[in-house]
Amino acid sequence: MLVVAEKDIAGLMTPEAAFEAIEAVFASMARRKAYNFPVVREAIGHEDALYGFKGGFDGAGLALGLKAGGYWPHNQKHGLINHQSTVFLFDPDTGRVSAAVGGNLLTALRTAAASAVSIKYLAPKDAKVLGMIGAGHQSAFQMRAAAKAHAFEKVLGWNPHPEMLGRLKATAAEIGLPFEAVELDRLGAEADVIISITSSFGPLLLSEHVKGPTHIAAMGTDTKGKQELDPALVARARLFADEIAQSVTIGEFQHAVAQGLIAQDAIAELGAVVTGDNPGRGEAEVTIFDGTGVGLQDLAVAAAVVELAKAKGIATSVEV
Ligand code: NAD
Repeated sequence: MLVVAEKDIAGLMTPEAAFEAIEAVFASMARRKAYNFPVVREAIGHEDALYGFKGGFDGAGLALGLKAGGYWPHNQKHGLINHQSTVFLFDPDTGRVSAAVGGNLLTALRTAAASAVSIKYLAPKDAKVLGMIGAGHQSAFQMRAAAKAHAFEKVLGWNPHPEMLGRLKATAAEIGLPFEAVELDRLGAEADVIISITSSFGPLLLSEHVKGPTHIAAMGTDTKGKQELDPALVARARLFADEIAQSVTIGEFQHAVAQGLIAQDAIAELGAVVTGDNPGRGEAEVTIFDGTGVGLQDLAVAAAVVELAKAKGIATSVEV
């Protein structure tokens, strides 16, 4: 098998390559050529850790495997980040393990690529202003990928912890865009595209905040109980998700469904917009993409990085 170390991922994987991999796998999911397996996530009763795995099979890209890992809240004492994951790929022809790939940076890149794909297909045509809700680790990746998917002229930002806003300001400067920290009512009124990427357990962006044609990529909600958007906002929008089953159970749309404000069949797969089977924005004023994060995204970027590592001759081969 080949091993691609976490330390080598940054030199191999670009936001552009991640975008291509995620766009292709969303299309494969919509064509029913790729499917995710049920997610396992368990509190293991040791170090307060949450461990799990997300797997799947992409019969079009021929990627079979899983991402294993989770969240270890006390990792600072080991000098490690709290989110830890590794992707394992298997040969779909024989079942033999084919690669082990560091999954930490890949997770950030594939999550950013998902919101960027939604922006490419669903943003209002003349969108100029990007609104960022959230200023944690992941926010910088989301902003960089968004700016590659669409030519924005300005970034507005809000975060529940204002002391973290420096990350958004620095990232906007890095990509050459002016940045302004604003309250949520101004962000909702002026931004044409909004990315939410927080760990919130209650609605932050309210329906009355959002004015005019707007696309929202809701990326923070990936667990039961988490929430970033007002269900009334969800109820008046055209809805898309990476995977509908995940969206209504652990994603942002779980709340509007539970409150009976929307039916599950009001949600379309983003992949169907990529394949041209769904018209996308159409006449809708507000579109929302619920990016819950699926195992196939991890396999897609890991498979791409293995090819890049092979081409550069930096994958280590080991006998299992
Ligand atoms: P982080 O810990 O670096 O940042 C957390 C962010 O959430 C900050 O903006 C912080 O101000 C805010 N926050 C923290 N506690 C909050 C609370 N109680 N209420 C409201 N806001 C709060 O995390 P990150 O790596 O930037 O990830 C942000 C979120 O995105 C997390 O919830 C994470 O689980 C989620 N995530 C989703 C995917 C996906 O595929 N959908 C992938 C990676 C991360």
